[in-house]
Amino acid sequence: MKKYTIGILFNESLTQVVMIYKNRPDWQKDNFNFPGGHIENGETSIVCLIREFEEECAIKTTIDTWKYIGKITNNKNYYVDVFTAIHNPKEHGFVKTNTDEVVIWIDCNNIPENIVTNVSWLLPFAKDWWNQGNVENLSFGTFNYNNIENCENCNGEGYTNFYDQGEPDLDSKCTVCNGTGKK
Ligand SMILES: [Zn+2]
Repeated sequence: MKKYTIGILFNESLTQVVMIYKNRPDWQKDNFNFPGGHIENGETSIVCLIREFEEECAIKTTIDTWKYIGKITNNKNYYVDVFTAIHNPKEHGFVKTNTDEVVIWIDCNNIPENIVTNVSWLLPFAKDWWNQGNVENLSFGTFNYNNIENCENCNGEGYTNFYDQGEPDLDSKCTVCNGTGKK
C-alpha cells in the first residue's frame, strides 16, 4: 500500500487556500495540488503532513492544527488521507516556498485550470466542512476509486491496478500470476 497525505490550508475567511505547483512526479508536473506527500516508514499520516508542510511551505503546525476529513483509496495499493486547517500566522508562521516547488495562496474562486485530479471537488468539500460548523469527526469517509481490474490470465484470482492516482500504471503486475493482467 502506498500511503499519502494532503492538507487543505485556508486563510481565516476561507477565501484563499495554499497550493503547490508540482514539478514531480510526471503525472502531476506543471499542475497545482495541495501540499502533502508520501508517508514514510514509521510515520502516522498526521506526522507526515506536519513534516511536509514544514518542508514545502515553512509552515509549523501541530497535531491539533489539522482536522481529518477523509480518505481516498482504491482499497488495494494506495490511499490518501485528507486533512484541513485554518492558517494562523502567529502560530504557524507565513507561507513561503521552501523547495524547488512554488507554494502560493490561491483565491478559492479563481482556481487555475491546471490542477491535479481531486482538487476540484476536495476544495469545495473542505470549505463546506468549515462552513457547516466545524463538526468534529465529520468526514466524507472513504472515497473509493475503482481502478482495479481482475486478471484475465488467472481467471480473476489476481488483480491489476491499471491506474495510479489517475495516471496509467504501465508497470502494474497481476498480484497472483505476476502477468500484465491481459491475455
Ligand atoms: Zn493473474
